[in-house]
Amino acid sequence: MYYGFDVGGTKIEFGAFNNQLERIATERVATPTDDYDLLISTISDLVKKYDRQFDCQGKIGLGLPGMENADDQTMLLVNIPAANGKPLRADLETKIGRRVKVENDANCFALSEAWDKSLKDEESVLGLILGTGFGGGIVHKGEVFSGRNHVAGEVGHMRLPLDAWLYLGENAPLLSCGCGKRGCQDNYLSGRGFELLYQHYYGDALKATQIINAYQSHDNNAVAHVERFMELLAICLANIFTVNDPHAVVLGGGLSNFEAIYEEMPKRVPKYLLPVARCPKIVKAQHGDSGGVRGAAFLNIK
Ligand SMILES: [Zn+2]
Repeated sequence: MYYGFDVGGTKIEFGAFNNQLERIATERVATPTDDYDLLISTISDLVKKYDRQFDCQGKIGLGLPGMENADDQTMLLVNIPAANGKPLRADLETKIGRRVKVENDANCFALSEAWDKSLKDEESVLGLILGTGFGGGIVHKGEVFSGRNHVAGEVGHMRLPLDAWLYLGENAPLLSCGCGKRGCQDNYLSGRGFELLYQHYYGDALKATQIINAYQSHDNNAVAHVERFMELLAICLANIFTVNDPHAVVLGGGLSNFEAIYEEMPKRVPKYLLPVARCPKIVKAQHGDSGGVRGAAFLNIK
């Protein structure tokens, strides 16, 4: 049995998965964001409850909107103040008496999709989220590759490549990022970035869905904006693909519903790759909001 916890800033979603990776239990509780002991006991109580219900000792994985410091095992978790700076994984292991795995949300998303029946035979899967932010996770042979510092796949905080900067030309906006740097891809390729770029070039603060509707109605500004965005995305994806050469790429987040991306990337990405490289297949995520809890549970498959 695999237990997944998707621990967010407002709620904790629990899911239990059997050996066929079918979900057989779901529970949602409020996240005790300001009480660390209560956070620990909330998670351990759910483990005990479902251990009793299924007469087993489930394997435990947590997906979190942050990451563990590789040197001292404390968590960076700004949305959950109670656990920020605390060794959450070690404290849970002590309380429950069992190994606990933790990963950030984007890695859990990628792992969840990589175990979908349509992708589970792919040797490597790159998951990319085009949502409020632009993030990603790398899965190799069914396991998350999170790197030395657990930042592997944090593509949103790579700066725009030179090709992108030259393509945008002299009127390009140099946008500041929440991480303290400027020019991070997060601010250009996320759904928010899609809106920021439109506002920069045309002055209107429209929602992504409004821009896409205008594009589908052949509005001149929206058509020019989408052309610019697609080329920018292709340049940045080609750069990312050159590093990890994924067998398949899966897109999630609100902007992943924009069908034009799946038509345009195979046409545009190859010219920015090495001549021997092919654009990997790029598909839409299958599991929506349940990706966090699935991915957390699947941390223990291998
Ligand atoms: Zn950044």
